[in-house]
Amino acid sequence: ISGDEGEEIEEKEDDSEELARQVELEKLSTIDKARKSLPVYRHRTRLMDAIKENQVLIIVGETGSGKTTQLPQYLVEDGYTQKGKFQVGVTQPRRVAATSVATRVAEEMNVKLGQEVGYSIRFDDKTTPGKTVLKYATDGMLLRECLTDQNLSKYSCIMIDEAHERTLATDILLGLLKGIIKERTDLKILISSATMNAEKFSQFFNGCPILKVPGRRFPVDIHYTLQPEGNYINAAITTVFQIHTTQPLKGDILLFLTGQEEIENTRDKIEEIASKLGSRIPQLLITPIYANLPQDQQSLIFQPTPENCRKLVLATNIAETSLTIDGIKYVIDPGFVKENSYVPTTGMAQLLTVACSKASVDQRAGRAGRVGPGKCFRIFTKWSYENELEMMPKPEILRTNISNTVLLLLSLGVKDLLSFPFIDKPTIPTLIKSLESLYLLGALNSKGQITELGKIMCEFPCEPEFAKVIHTAATHPLCQGVLNECLTIVSMLHETTSIFVGNKKEATSRIVSTIESDHLLYLEVYNQWTDSGYSRAWCQDHKVQFKTMIRVRNIRSQLLKCCSKLKVDKVDCTTLSKHTNNVEKITRSFISGFPTNVIQLGNSGYHTIGKKTGGLSVLIHPSSVVFQNYKELGHKPEKFILYQQLMLTSKEYVRDCMPIPSDKWLVDMVPQLFQHLLQNNVKK
Ligand code: ADP
Ligand code: MG
Repeated sequence: ISGDEGEEIEEKEDDSEELARQVELEKLSTIDKARKSLPVYRHRTRLMDAIKENQVLIIVGETGSGKTTQLPQYLVEDGYTQKGKFQVGVTQPRRVAATSVATRVAEEMNVKLGQEVGYSIRFDDKTTPGKTVLKYATDGMLLRECLTDQNLSKYSCIMIDEAHERTLATDILLGLLKGIIKERTDLKILISSATMNAEKFSQFFNGCPILKVPGRRFPVDIHYTLQPEGNYINAAITTVFQIHTTQPLKGDILLFLTGQEEIENTRDKIEEIASKLGSRIPQLLITPIYANLPQDQQSLIFQPTPENCRKLVLATNIAETSLTIDGIKYVIDPGFVKENSYVPTTGMAQLLTVACSKASVDQRAGRAGRVGPGKCFRIFTKWSYENELEMMPKPEILRTNISNTVLLLLSLGVKDLLSFPFIDKPTIPTLIKSLESLYLLGALNSKGQITELGKIMCEFPCEPEFAKVIHTAATHPLCQGVLNECLTIVSMLHETTSIFVGNKKEATSRIVSTIESDHLLYLEVYNQWTDSGYSRAWCQDHKVQFKTMIRVRNIRSQLLKCCSKLKVDKVDCTTLSKHTNNVEKITRSFISGFPTNVIQLGNSGYHTIGKKTGGLSVLIHPSSVVFQNYKELGHKPEKFILYQQLMLTSKEYVRDCMPIPSDKWLVDMVPQLFQHLLQNNVKK
C-alpha cells in the first residue's frame, strides 16, 4: 500500500514532468512522421535487400532524400551492429556536416549525443567506447583510424558519404577499402554520391551495383545576368532585396558565398541596408553557415522561420549537398568556390577562389526545388554557363599537396605508391614533390623509406609540418626548452580565423603594445588567458573569442598528450623555458617545420624562394602584426620572413608571419635547402 501512495504523491508533484513527457512524445511522433515521409523510407526494403546481397553498393539519390540520416539508422535497426559488438561508421568530407548530422540523428533516435550516436572530428571526439554504435566521422578521421586498426575491425558497415566530393581522404579511403574488403568479407561498404561520378565508383569496385533512390524535386526556374558582373557580392545583395521585397514572404533564400570572411562582410552590408529600410520591409533573419562557425550557431539554420519574417542563409558550398535546409525557395549563386590549389613545381599551396563546375551550380540550383517550385538566380551569364564552366569539379588529389597522404600510406606499409589503387592517380610531379618535402622534413630517408621521425609525425593529429615543429622544439639541441610555447602557437594556428571578436588589430592593441610576430602574439594571447585562469571575462575584455580559446586549449592538450605518449620530450621544459633566447628557439623550430614557407626581401618587396623560377612576389597581409610593424611603426623589414598561409585574392598575400633575423638560423635548421641558397647570395 505504501508503495502505491508513494507513487500517487509523486504523480501529483510531477505534473510539470508529465507535461514535459507529453511534449517529448509529440516531438518524437513529429520526427517519426518526418522520417517516414523521406524518399528513402519508401525504398527501405529494396535498399536493405541490396545491402544484404552485395558487399559494395553505390547509392545515388537527390540531396535531402534521407541517405545520410536514415540509411545508417536502418543498418542499426536491422542488427548490423550485433547489439554493440560492431559499429556503423559514416564518413563526411566536412566537419560541420559530421557534427550537425550526428546531432540530428541522436535526436531522431532519442538518445544523448555521444552515447549510442556520436561523432569524431579532429580534436573533438564525441563517442563512448563500448556504447556508440553509430558514428559519424570526417573522412580524414576514419583514415587515421586505419593507422591503428588496418582492417577497420570495429566496423560492420562503412558508409562513405558524399563520395562525389572526391576529397583526398575519401579517395584514399576508397583505395584502402578496396584492399580491406578482400580480407574482411563480412564488411559492408555503402558509397553514397550525388549523380556525378557514380559510374566511376562502380567501375572502381568491379562494376558493383548502383542503386538509385528517386527523390522528389520540383521545377526550378533559372535566371541569368545579361552581362558579366564586376562585383558579384553587390549584385547578390541587390538580388536578395529584390526577392525579399517583391516575392511572397513564404520561401527562404540561400546565397552561396566562398568563405567566412566574405559571409561576414556580406552579412554586415545586408544588415546595414536592412536597417536603413527599417519597417518598410519585413524582417530578414540572416543565418550564416561555414566550416568554422561555432556549433551553437550552426543549429540556427535548421530552426523554422518565424512568422512575418524571411530567412536568408549565407552559406559556403557546404549547403550544396552535405546539409539540407528546409524551406529554401530561392537560390542566389555567384558561381564561385574556394579551393585548394597546389603547384608542384613551386611546392606552393594556395586557397583560390575559382569558378564552380557545371555539376556544382546545377546542384546548387536544385536546392531551391525541395519544398515546391523554386527560383535560382545565377550571377553570371548563360553564355558563361554553357561555354566557360568545367563539367565536373577537379578531385582534390589532383590539386593539392599530398605529402600528408604519402606519409600515411608509407606508414601503412604501402611500398609502391604508383601501384596503389587511386581512382585518379596523382601526377608524377606532385608525387615527387611530396617525397622531396617529406625528405626535407626528415620523415623519409634518402631511399624514400619512412624514418622513425616520419612515424612519429604520423601519430600526431596535425600536418606533418606542425608535428616537426613540435618535435624540434622538444628535441633539437638548438631549440630545446620551448615545447610549451610551440605547442601553444601550433594550437592557436589551427584556429586563427576565429580568435578575435571583430578587428584583429584593435584586439591586439588591448593585449600588447608591440610584438614581433603573429606567432608571438598568439602565444601572448594564450598565456594571458591562462594567467587569468582561463576566464571568460578576460576574453570579453580583450575582444577574444572565449569558445575558440576553449577549443585551442583542447587542441593543445591533445597535442601534449601525443608528446608524452611518444616520449619526444627528453628534457624538462619548465626549467629551461626561462631562458632569454626563447624567441630564437621558437623561430628555429618553425623554420624546421616550414622551410619552404620562407620568403625573401628582394628589390621590389618580398618574394617566395623558388629554385628556378626566382619566386613569386607576395605582400604581407595588412592583418599581420609584421605589416603593422613595418608600415606603421617603421621597423626595418627583415630579409627573411616565415609565413603560415598564402592566399590569392586580387593579390598574393601571406598571413601569420614571423621575421627571421638571422640567415644562420635557416642554414642551421635546414642546411639541405638553405646552404646553397645563401652561398649564391654571397656570390652575388
Ligand atoms: P541526404 O543525405 O539524402 O541529402 P539527409 O539524410 O541529410 O539527406 O536529410 C534528410 C532530411 O532530414 C532533410 O530533408 C531534412 O529535412 C532533415 N534534416 C537533416 N538534418 C537536419 C537537422 N539538423 N535539423 C532538422 N532537420 C534535418
Ligand atoms: Mg547527405
